[in-house]
Amino acid sequence: METDVLVVGAGPGGSAAAYHLARQGIDVTVLERSAFPREKVCGDGITPRGVAAMLRMGVDTAEPGYERVLGLRVYSRSATIELPWPELRSWPDYGLVRTRHDFDAILASRAQKAGARLVERTEAVQPIVTDGWVTGARIRGTEEPGEPGSEVRARFVIAADGAASRFAKPAGIRRDVSRPLGIAARRYYRVEHRPGPWFESWLDLWEGDLLLPGYGWLFPLADGTVNLGAGLLNTFRGFKEVSAQRLFDAFSTMLPQAWGISEDTAAGRVLSGPLPMSFNRIPVAVPGLLLVGDAAGAVNPFNGEGIAYAMETAEMAAEVIGEALVRGRPGIAASYPGMLRDRYEAYFRIGRGFARAIGKPAIMGRATKHLLPRPAVMHFAMRMMANLTDGRDGDAQDRLFWLLERLAGIL
Ligand SMILES: Cc1cc2nc3c(=O)[nH]c(=O)nc-3n(C[C@H](O)[C@H](O)[C@H](O)COP(=O)(O)OP(=O)(O)OC[C@H]3O[C@@H](n4cnc5c(N)ncnc54)[C@H](O)[C@@H]3O)c2cc1C
Repeated sequence: METDVLVVGAGPGGSAAAYHLARQGIDVTVLERSAFPREKVCGDGITPRGVAAMLRMGVDTAEPGYERVLGLRVYSRSATIELPWPELRSWPDYGLVRTRHDFDAILASRAQKAGARLVERTEAVQPIVTDGWVTGARIRGTEEPGEPGSEVRARFVIAADGAASRFAKPAGIRRDVSRPLGIAARRYYRVEHRPGPWFESWLDLWEGDLLLPGYGWLFPLADGTVNLGAGLLNTFRGFKEVSAQRLFDAFSTMLPQAWGISEDTAAGRVLSGPLPMSFNRIPVAVPGLLLVGDAAGAVNPFNGEGIAYAMETAEMAAEVIGEALVRGRPGIAASYPGMLRDRYEAYFRIGRGFARAIGKPAIMGRATKHLLPRPAVMHFAMRMMANLTDGRDGDAQDRLFWLLERLAGIL
């Protein structure tokens, strides 16, 4: 089989890449090893940044099934604070929650409607490399194993195969262990208690009197369930001793009994997964192959958000590949790593510093005690952590954000 662009994986990254390529009239094939709808371990939270990426794919966010979220409610032992999303020119002022079971199927169908070919139950086993250029993939069916040696030939390949991303490894992609990595667990519960239209997050998790390194969340879904989860970063002191499961157990026991979080209200098992942050894969492209989303390690180290970054990096990959194909100059795609650097490096550098700082319980404890009760500081922190700004031309907070990024770019 032959196609212009082969996309490996149909998560938010793969579907966004396929959509934006197909919209340019490019022949694109997406391989997905499972079949939709399928489960994906996630908090299911979509910030205004993710909403913007959905709108660029023509998704109707007013349809039933989405829970709208006004902002963030942050809890600690010393204070609780509500932080509405900032009102900005560049970003919507609402977030969404939707199970990945539904969400990923919606995005994949947007890509198909735009003209992309989706091949489910098919796994890309390894890249085909011809004279140093990735020219396709060996594939196999995941239900009825395909003929040995089946392959797809392509002018470009996009690896959008998620956090484990085994596909790109033989092409020379490796993990940069100096970059932060998160691990988190989540479970659904059918509860009476409704938290209201907020992403709820807990900054200190207690196992009795012991403060554990990590954070917790509770996100409301439109069907009345909640997504409860807890996670930690490998920059946290004690990371090796605390599993995501233990953190999750401590967190779920810590919540008020009246909220009804218990074995009786649980829907499904506790499932966990990794969050590869701050572009922890290098290089993010080799000739003929571009990495997007979790495969590139594109999760935001400030807040563990990966959906928006998967969709944005996919859009950027689609843009450079589109230009390379239209102009008949494959070398144009080599500009992709530079584009990622320009857009994210300064911000993610600050995020890495943040990830290191909050990993120290003393700093984290002092920060939550002294900063949480200060609304102005917290509003700025939320803008920074969610990466929502109007840039240099915005208000005073935007200008401070812009200045910090410039400084991080210079240092
Ligand atoms: C517990 C947890 C909670 C999280 N909560 C949030 C949150 O609330 N908000 C947020 O924004 N982010 C969250 N994230 C991060 C988010 O889930 C990821 O960043 C996001 O899914 C990345 O999208 P992706 O398209 O790059 O990869 P994925 O969503 O992982 O999609 C990869 C796809 O590729 C397929 N695939 C894999 N290998 C192959 C192959 N060889 N051939 C064919 N197909 C293949 C897989 O089946 C899958 O469908 C969370 C992550 C975890 C683990």
